[in-house]
Amino acid sequence: MAEQEVLYNGSSKVVFKGEGDTITIRFKDYISAFYGIKGARIENKATMNCRISSMVLGYLNDNGITTHFVAQTSDTEQCCRLVKHIPIEVIVRNVIAGSMARRLGMEDGIIPENTIFDLCLRDNELGDPLINDHHAVALGLVTYEELQHIYAVSSKVNALLTDLYARAGIKLVDFKIEFGRATDGSLVLADELTPDTCRLWDVATGERMDKDRFRRDLGRVRETYEEVAQRLANQLNK
Ligand code: UDP
Repeated sequence: MAEQEVLYNGSSKVVFKGEGDTITIRFKDYISAFYGIKGARIENKATMNCRISSMVLGYLNDNGITTHFVAQTSDTEQCCRLVKHIPIEVIVRNVIAGSMARRLGMEDGIIPENTIFDLCLRDNELGDPLINDHHAVALGLVTYEELQHIYAVSSKVNALLTDLYARAGIKLVDFKIEFGRATDGSLVLADELTPDTCRLWDVATGERMDKDRFRRDLGRVRETYEEVAQRLANQLNK
């Protein structure tokens, strides 16, 4: 079989051009943090993240969210729609943690009155700086109307995932998503949704069930990702 054209090769995923307007995303057994300063091979992570992201994106598709996900095609691969990525990270926070806690001198675990939406410019060299709506429009990345749509979809994704994870005994603390434009110009959620890109806290024990286990050297990274996959599978009858 001819080698597929590589569109992107990152630390945890490689993306190949697929048939027509599709891509193949192949997950890797690798985890990295702090812009690649810290990294390690985690056995079975590709299989777990592919499984988790496929279940979650499939669930979102089934509940009226337009995502790039088409199908899981092997243990570690997905077929997705080809889109033009908008270089903005949308971060949704239900509980204060991570960079927001550090930036504002707050304790991890504070529950805000309202859901918090951050926008960050996806630019490694600049350290993915926090931006606001006006910056995003001035940079020519999106229109105000598109931002309204992005916030509405992000809010709906938050409600759906908060409910799904709650049924699995997990608190959805925060997550990051990105959007792209399909060939017809419509906006599509185009990202993975895994413990690499969400903060997940076990409701019963408060244990971290996400990439913070790796960032903070808490151990049992592989076992925790497997546990998240199993709990989601139980909820979604997979
Ligand atoms: N996140 C991500 N990619 C990024 C930045 C953040 O997936 O480039 C996720 C992160 O895993 C967490 C959420 O977005 O679930 C909020 O991240 P935060 O801004 O607190 O930054 P962190 O402290 O995780 O670097």
